[in-house]
Amino acid sequence: MHSCNARCAALGVEAAPLQLRLFSTMVDAVLSYGSEVWGMQLAAASAAGKTSSTAGSKAERLHLAHLRRLLGVRQGTPTAVVLAEAGERPLWQRWVLRAVKLWNLAVTAEQSSLLWQAMTASVALAVAPGHRIPARQPWAQQLAAALAAIGVQLDLHQPQPVCKAAVQSACSAWQLKQLQDAATREGASKLQHYTQGVWGGTLDAASLDTRAAYLTVVRERSRRAPLAQLLTGSHWGAEETGRWDKTPPEQRLCSHCGGGVETVHHIIFDCPLYASLRTRFSDLFCLLPEPRTLHAFFQQPPARLATFAASLKLQWQVAHDAAVLL
Ligand SMILES: [Zn+2]
Repeated sequence: MHSCNARCAALGVEAAPLQLRLFSTMVDAVLSYGSEVWGMQLAAASAAGKTSSTAGSKAERLHLAHLRRLLGVRQGTPTAVVLAEAGERPLWQRWVLRAVKLWNLAVTAEQSSLLWQAMTASVALAVAPGHRIPARQPWAQQLAAALAAIGVQLDLHQPQPVCKAAVQSACSAWQLKQLQDAATREGASKLQHYTQGVWGGTLDAASLDTRAAYLTVVRERSRRAPLAQLLTGSHWGAEETGRWDKTPPEQRLCSHCGGGVETVHHIIFDCPLYASLRTRFSDLFCLLPEPRTLHAFFQQPPARLATFAASLKLQWQVAHDAAVLL
């Protein structure tokens, strides 16, 4: 992955769709090779929530690190938000979908084929009584556990093909529930900012599968990243930087104006530091219905939003550098 990133940098390849495709074809093809067989135990653990956002398998961590780098957000940005913004599924869900394809091939194969016999042997072992740790379970049992964790039942006593579309929608539903549940936890301010502020509570399973428009429309990473930072809550304001020295949330005041906590809302709508930019980008403000919301604001043309966000970040950088010099 690192050589792929280095080559992209050397060639000036910045477009997000191309980088996502390169990861899929050059990195994931190797990373997930044979995952329909070896990945089910890991998928079951991830789907059952036995891994935290910073844990998961090495392969999953690599995938998420790639997405965070692509968006230009910090590693601490919640996984569910990063995946939703990029319109990507967790890697383990891709593995489950591949495993379902293999299962369907096996149960419909000729009974004389090696594949059918291997599947039948695995099922026979799986239904035999006895407690086994997940790593020692036969493949069919691991697949059933992974599917059960996303709410799809696999009857090992009567092996039948599994509907792939049903598994896909169960995966999307799992992802949406994960995001919504995480957002209700106390202190999950970035997730609340994303689900309530940015999405205005309208996030659904279909939108999780859709890549944010600016990732396709805006080619330059330097223009894309500040917008991604504002959308994901992984921004440059005190609301975010105050976490690092554990400043209580209500004390993370804006150092430029002192007029409140330096949130995304404050940066975009209120802080006098950016007043001239609001005039320059008046088209983004003049048609907004009152009261102004982040949700309505971020519905506007993505290329224009990206240019505005990049200008905000630059303005902040200039003010920040000047303050350091004083
Ligand atoms: Zn301010």
